[in-house]
Amino acid sequence: MRAIGECGLDFLRATSSESRAHQVEVFRAQLELARHTGLPLSIHCVKAHGPLVELLRERPTPASVMHAFSGSAEIARELVGAGHYISFAGNLCVQGARRVVEAARAVPDERLLLETDTPDQTPPARRPAANEPAFIVDIAARLAELRGASIEEIATLTLDNGRRVFSVEAPFALHDFDDRDHDVTSE
Ligand SMILES: [Zn+2]
Repeated sequence: MRAIGECGLDFLRATSSESRAHQVEVFRAQLELARHTGLPLSIHCVKAHGPLVELLRERPTPASVMHAFSGSAEIARELVGAGHYISFAGNLCVQGARRVVEAARAVPDERLLLETDTPDQTPPARRPAANEPAFIVDIAARLAELRGASIEEIATLTLDNGRRVFSVEAPFALHDFDDRDHDVTSE
């Protein structure tokens, strides 16, 4: 087992104070489980970043992943300061996504991750197709553009970060792939 989750808070779906309180209660138990096992959490958070930061402040939590991040640069900095990783998904590629774009610029290299959140969050250029893992290239390209980096740099550092947070050994390196089949820069 590499992680616990995904789990977290979704106040877009939970609108009553009772259901929100229930989410908080369950998430507290999952935080305890993470502390007990030392495993990272994959954290889902929609419209609940303030309460999430408060919960994470209560007690130290193993370095965890904020999956498909949608919060502000300020929240991202706060979470990074507590040792967590920020993972960006297809919402980063949406026109006018100012808040998450600012967050993507604020996260230091060593805390950056990317994901597709397949089957959700199809990058705009791929719609109406269903999302799939191969579209990770779109997220990497957008992050590279926003951070003034190359796609290779983003791929290398997010691969390293992913291995670190999930304690995964390195079975291969990026350059082990055949360039003709995996040249993401020419797309
Ligand atoms: Zn989620």
